[in-house]
Amino acid sequence: MKGSFPVDRFEQLRTPFYYYDMELLRATLDAIRQEVRKHDGFVVHYAVKANANPKLLSAIRQAGLGADCVSGGEIEASLRAGFPAGKIVYAGVGKSDWEINLGLDNDIFCFNVESIPELEVINQLAGAKGKTAHVAFRLNPNVGAHTHANITTGLAENKFGIAMRDMDSVIEKAEQLTNIKFVGLHFHIGSQILDMGDFQALCNRINDLQDQLERHHIRVEHINVGGGLGIDYQHPNRVPIPDFKAYFDTYAKRLKLRPGQTLHFELGRAVVAQCGSLIARTLYIKEGAMKKFCIVDAGFTDLIRPALYQAYHKIENISSDEPTEPYDVVGPICESTDVFGKQVDLNRSQRGNLIAIRSAGAYGEIMASSYNCRPLPQGITSDDIN
Ligand SMILES: *Cc1c(COP(=O)(O)O)cnc(C)c1O
Repeated sequence: MKGSFPVDRFEQLRTPFYYYDMELLRATLDAIRQEVRKHDGFVVHYAVKANANPKLLSAIRQAGLGADCVSGGEIEASLRAGFPAGKIVYAGVGKSDWEINLGLDNDIFCFNVESIPELEVINQLAGAKGKTAHVAFRLNPNVGAHTHANITTGLAENKFGIAMRDMDSVIEKAEQLTNIKFVGLHFHIGSQILDMGDFQALCNRINDLQDQLERHHIRVEHINVGGGLGIDYQHPNRVPIPDFKAYFDTYAKRLKLRPGQTLHFELGRAVVAQCGSLIARTLYIKEGAMKKFCIVDAGFTDLIRPALYQAYHKIENISSDEPTEPYDVVGPICESTDVFGKQVDLNRSQRGNLIAIRSAGAYGEIMASSYNCRPLPQGITSDDIN
């Protein structure tokens, strides 16, 4: 046992694999529940795209969260995990007909609509089934999150959402369509946001918008502010659970909800990132001209965040207690970007040692690919092996 890892049990498993600490996941879900309970009308959905491992989905569903889906496949995964259809929301700029029909057949809570052409198709498909689709409009609030450029979504230049200036005409259009019921407004400004000021800016924008809508006598049943709360990648041990209190308090204090309105959240990363680690085995220590490489059996096919976003993950040798040395930790894929970390201080490493790449529970296993004909990594939970 080193840290919280059952290293002895890991020795029997084929690497690489994802390990999920279910105790931490349940503690995280408890922390969310405790904060949400304090605020009337707050409803939390889990953004399934962060990780759709069935064991995690099941724990999240048991904690009472809804599911935020961005594809038909995610709707199916959520239904299989037991999420009630009435707690499923469905967003995405490119919903295909079968995906819309799947949502209609199951009477999901809400479609988050991103354009007028999409609204017209949903109206038509709902009409063919004699149903009324509940829709919220995803608005692009033109609020920038101070995060990596590839993961901001709320700027005017991004493909997401409907521009604020088009809002009135879109709502007017919805009211003319017979198989559409307009129920809410949806926003999502980005991911890995740690500055509560970004969420405050979103609140201010929504307050202005609600005032504007009220002048036109338009009432909205619910507001959905998306997700985006970040986690501490530097300190997974010291800060295993994000500051949900600060997050929910920001909305409670800044957003002026109207009587009877519900406020929906779609948290992904903040729910699952810290409970997951990618466990790999050291294949070779290679002495380069300038530095040492620790070559492991996991690559960007297993965890693409460092290659895709230059993302930082804390890396530990969980088999060694020897003094630390700097290593470039790299994978076996035939691409120069297949690097998990440069000049990482690891306990002196040798062939066979297990390496933990921390905070990998979100956008890890779910983004794995089989490039180089590599098998997909397995997901193993602490419940499975304890
Ligand atoms: C990705 C996404 C989320 C979740 O984002 P996190 O940063 O993981 O919390 C929520 N809502 C929508 C619409 C998304 O696309």
